[in-house]
Formats: sequence, structure tokens, C-alpha cells
Amino acid sequence: MRKLAAGNWKMNGTQSDLAQITQIGAAFDAASVDILICPPAQLLIPAVTASPHVAIGAQDCHANASGAHTGDLSAPQIRDTGATYVIVGHSERRTDHGETDATVNAKAAAAVDAGLIAIICIGETLQDRDNGATLNVLAQQLTGSVPALATAQNTVIAYEPVWAIGTGLIPTLDQIAQAHAFIREHLTAQLGATAADMRLLYGGSVKGSNAADIFAVPHVDGALVGGASLTAQDFAPIITALQNA
Ligand code: PEP
Repeated sequence: MRKLAAGNWKMNGTQSDLAQITQIGAAFDAASVDILICPPAQLLIPAVTASPHVAIGAQDCHANASGAHTGDLSAPQIRDTGATYVIVGHSERRTDHGETDATVNAKAAAAVDAGLIAIICIGETLQDRDNGATLNVLAQQLTGSVPALATAQNTVIAYEPVWAIGTGLIPTLDQIAQAHAFIREHLTAQLGATAADMRLLYGGSVKGSNAADIFAVPHVDGALVGGASLTAQDFAPIITALQNA
């Protein structure tokens, strides 16, 4: 499988930041891994043409293809921009917008139906971890959020402990290994053989300084990166570490 270095710009970035995508593409014009940036929605169309070497994705989609949903974007609309991926179920969407596993499942299915690759985010809170409930929570989220039509080609899973996002905290490498092995096993039971090749990303405070260690963990097939994806300077070492893993 081709590994994936994915950047999530969240609600950051204006047109002047498109140059970061162009720079990344120029630095990795023959990359051995897939490179993805998910900019805010207003940048999707210009981002698609910023570099032929960087794929572009959205950060959310609506579960319906069209209709009376003010402020939302549908998966076919995202596909129409030339974007090829969409993140669904990010913890910030689950928290800020009350998205449930059922919502995320419907969004992921809509994304795949529209020809997009869905990046489905899961992850425990600190309270879950302190209660020893991490694997139960992951099992529940996988069962609820990953649609039956998911395959290695149309779906990516991002394991993002909520407490590690934007905090500078990361789980131990053993904790990441345990979570990723569990996710692979659970997906195999849920989806069958396709799960063996499904890309499992780690997300949560990934930086150039810790990326190589994280990418050496079994079943870590890339990263979903927030803060350190905003500039080419910060994102480049993470891509290099993934290529060398
Ligand atoms: C994220 O937003 O998915 C994320 C992992 O953020 P950060 O890398 O900033 O922790």
C-alpha cells in the first residue's frame, strides 16, 4: 500500500497560503508516499491546481447529495472541485457539531458514493483512557462509523486520541501500537480481507521531531497532521520521515 501524509488545515489559511502547497509539491515531485492537504472549503478549487503532486481533500461533507442545508457542502460538490478526499468524524466535528457515529457513517458512505476517499477519524478522550475504556471506545466507533461499503481503496482510518490533538501530548509508542493493532483486527472482523490494506493513520501532535518513531510502529501507515501541516517547512520533515519508514 502507498502510505499517506495528510494535512488538516482546519479553519486556517487564506489564498496566500496556497504557496505552501506548491512548495510541498515542488519538494516532493517524485514522492513514494501520497501527500494530501485538506484546506478550508474556500480554498478547495485553487488548492487543486496549486500542485500536481499534492492531493486535495475537504474537512467535512453533508450526508445528502443536495438540498436545503444552509452552509453545508455535499460530497458531489466537493468532488466537483477536483478534490479527491474528505475527512469525516474529526473529533472537533464530533464535539462542536454533535456528530454521532451514525452521522459519520452516513457521511463516509456519501463520500464514497461520490467517488471520494473518506478519512474516518476515531479516538478516545483522556477520560476514556483513564477509565481503561480506550479499546471499547475504538470498537464502538469503528462499528458505528465505518460503512459496510468501505474498502482499502475508498476509506482511510485515522486514529486520533482526542487528548493528543493540538496539545503537544502523544501516546507512548506502545499505546499507539496497541491501538493500531486492535483497529486492524477489528476492521478485519468487520470488513474482511480488504482491511489488511486499509491505511491506518496516526494523528495527534505529530511533528518532524517525533514522526520517525511513530512511523516505525506496526500498522501505522501514515499520519493526519494538524498544526505541523500549515507550512511546507514543518510538513516536509514529516513526509520525509514517512518516505524513510
Ligand atoms: C488534527 O487536527 O487532526 C490533528 C492531529 O492536529 P495536531 O496535529 O495539531 O495535533
